[in-house]
Amino acid sequence: MAFVVAIDGPVAAGKGTLARALAARFGFAYLDTGSLYRAVGSKLLRQGGDPSDADFAAKIAQSLETSDLSAPDLRAEAVGLAASKVASIPAVRAALLEYQRRFASQPPQNAPGAVLDGRDIGTVICPDAPVKLFVTASDEVRAERRFKELQAKGEAVLLADVLADLRRRDAQDASRATAPLKPAEDAHLLDTSGLDIEAAVAAAAKLVSAKLSP
Ligand code: C5P
Repeated sequence: MAFVVAIDGPVAAGKGTLARALAARFGFAYLDTGSLYRAVGSKLLRQGGDPSDADFAAKIAQSLETSDLSAPDLRAEAVGLAASKVASIPAVRAALLEYQRRFASQPPQNAPGAVLDGRDIGTVICPDAPVKLFVTASDEVRAERRFKELQAKGEAVLLADVLADLRRRDAQDASRATAPLKPAEDAHLLDTSGLDIEAAVAAAAKLVSAKLSP
């Protein structure tokens, strides 16, 4: 069995940066599970669909291809919001479940472990993961981070709009009936508001090392 690190948390809490750094440090494979929901959202919008059309969204999720994960607009704000809408549809989640579980149990290139980040990794996808982290930061800190990321990519955005979108998406993700955003009971909470990335990685790496060789 591969060693699994499950990382969950709201928008722009620092999950991806932390997950990538942990994967690199321990030689584990990394899966950004949000990109699967984003790929469904992006493909659906491209085909002129409505993200609340459950049948259409489910069909897209069931026929998702690897190439859909490199859609040029994958990280756009509109795609994030569409992803959050399709992510509340149980049939969409069901269609993406096996792929995530297989990645965790048999990571690519025979890696000895896998780091998955998302919203329901510790609660639904890998409830037996030996290390679970729930990463948070204040709304303002997260909005500022996301704003800088979007600005760096040349997107013309206002900080106030980024903050409002982030709150809307978190509220949507936390209130849905299926696999809502919430910490697993046995998750370690990591608030990155006042931490730089090195400090956050060091804290998380300590937890992984302790479980790898107790
Ligand atoms: O992580 P990211 O912000 O890219 O995810 C986009 C959306 O996908 C989230 O707002 C959430 O609705 C959905 N998602 C999810 N479960 C996951 C990962 C992402 O519902 N494990």
